[in-house]
Amino acid sequence: MNFFCGDDLLVKEQTVPRLSEVSELIDGSGINSMSGGSYFGTVNGTGCIAFNMPAGFNSAEFTASAADGGSSQQFVLLRRYVGELDDFINSAAGYASHMLHWDRHSRYCGRCGTENGWHPKERAKLCPSCGSLQFPRISPAIIIMIQKEGEVLLAHNCRFPEGRYSLLAGFMEMGETIEQTAAREVREEVGIEIGNIRYIASQSWPFPDSLMLGLSAEYRSGDIKPDGIEITDAGWFNPDSFPSIPGHGTIARKLIDEYTKTYKS
Ligand SMILES: [Zn+2]
Repeated sequence: MNFFCGDDLLVKEQTVPRLSEVSELIDGSGINSMSGGSYFGTVNGTGCIAFNMPAGFNSAEFTASAADGGSSQQFVLLRRYVGELDDFINSAAGYASHMLHWDRHSRYCGRCGTENGWHPKERAKLCPSCGSLQFPRISPAIIIMIQKEGEVLLAHNCRFPEGRYSLLAGFMEMGETIEQTAAREVREEVGIEIGNIRYIASQSWPFPDSLMLGLSAEYRSGDIKPDGIEITDAGWFNPDSFPSIPGHGTIARKLIDEYTKTYKS
């Protein structure tokens, strides 16, 4: 089983194809001349290799020509496919995407600028000159479901498609606890104060390298004032009349659905 990722994942009939199934693509792309993909272990007994397609390879053109030829192989934006592929494919593809991103962004030692090599035993890069060791970067971020009298705070981020609302989220800063991050992000983005912050669940979110920490909290004080930069609209929504929210497979949806279940029972 193999993945071909940049931000896009090659899928064939809702799964990832085997290397032997993509020989045409490989012949046409110059991938044969690449130094090889990154092996990242076995899943369900099958070895998995992640490839970056060569520079200049156009996944949209490939998908269009595959469609012309009646083939079901296509490149899809992995991020859009969260929840569509089965959990195993999602997590393995997420891992592959994260690893390839990190590989591309850790080519040189941050301390002395020498080209990094791989560590012989760890999933890490090792500088052959100064010995600096670099592990894959994982950036923790919080995502939070805030309740007020049976309603949930949902916000429209300027990067969302039109009409889409979701929970507030933000990256942790140095020195913060998870609770401090949550309180700061909510204050900065919509100007309210929250309390009773509780951890609910987490999700690896490899776009490109996050770990989402899913929280719940209760409204305490203040009126909603979207910051107008990241958040252009926000409000309290009753579970009976939610706007368009993120799809299944996302932690935002999981937190919202769990709340809705409790609310309706
Ligand atoms: Zn170095």
